[in-house]
Amino acid sequence: MSLTLLFAAGPGTLDAYRAPLEAALKAEGLAADLTDSAAPETVDYIIYAPASPLQDFTPFTRAKAVLSLWAGVERIVANRTLTQPLARMVDPALTQGMVEYVCGHVLRYHLGMDAHITAAPGDWATHAPPLASERTVGLLGLGALGSACAQALAGLGFRVAGWSARPKTLDGIACADGESGLKTVLQASEILVTLLPDTPQTTNLLDAETLALLPRGARIINPGRGTVIDDAALIAALDAGQIGHATLDVFRTEPLPVAHPFWHHPRVTVTPHIAAATRAESAARVLARNIARVEAGAPLLHEVARDRGY
Ligand code: NAP
Repeated sequence: MSLTLLFAAGPGTLDAYRAPLEAALKAEGLAADLTDSAAPETVDYIIYAPASPLQDFTPFTRAKAVLSLWAGVERIVANRTLTQPLARMVDPALTQGMVEYVCGHVLRYHLGMDAHITAAPGDWATHAPPLASERTVGLLGLGALGSACAQALAGLGFRVAGWSARPKTLDGIACADGESGLKTVLQASEILVTLLPDTPQTTNLLDAETLALLPRGARIINPGRGTVIDDAALIAALDAGQIGHATLDVFRTEPLPVAHPFWHHPRVTVTPHIAAATRAESAARVLARNIARVEAGAPLLHEVARDRGY
């Protein structure tokens, strides 16, 4: 029997996914009709991204799961019409992209690359940077992406302190949780990376009070979600020298409005939400594998816990 897969990810997106998804489904031994328009009651699975106009999931009475193309699910998780299980995107290529982004920007700060790139003729200040083993990098969020970044940074020799909601053990990482754990991680982190989801609990987690816990001049890299940082508090902390520099990939409003102070601040680097993209080839394999599991009666992988919101 052929499955009907509704690709609800915004205009034109199916074009990039059709060939890899058809190949991945075939490799899983699944026959499927892949479409961006179908009668709701005929749909077996919905592949979803927030650019889709689909908001009411009620008529999809046969759908066994909604599979998000995005790792972050804040724009769908609270949808009350969504009663089907929701899976988020956890994909090796997405993780690899994030590891490269985070390691690159951590090394930029660690090595003080900007000073050397902009050195004038005659600048000969011979201050070698410390070794990675003399520097602590903090990771807020130790999920699929945060734990991979933490381990890559530890592999480069950094001292890594990580924070998650629930207690966790990761080889070579000083793991912490809860309010006191957050304080410990912040106080130690000369470079802080945030890879937290956007939930009511993480909103404005980095505000004037928590930013003040970081060592003076600490650097922040945020490829998680913009809502985790209180924008005004960060700008005040940058102006006061409490935060030395920030590299921000995600924002409360995207694209970041041209008048936003982050664009114009001398100690902010803005990257346009490019830290880790979902790539069709590898994402197609993840989607097909998950559908094959459900069809075989196995639990859906990477299911979002609605009560937690991620
Ligand atoms: P994940 O596997 O769900 O991990 C989330 C982590 O955050 C977990 O360790 C979780 O703790 C922790 N966490 C959540 N709420 C918390 C709280 N209130 N206090 C302390 N820790 C909390 O997510 P992921 O796949 O690593 O992705 C993380 C985020 O990255 C996504 O939500 C998305 O917003 C963002 N992202 C950005 C890009 C980009 O291009 N910029 C690309 C992909 C994803 P537990 O381990 O205890 O659950």
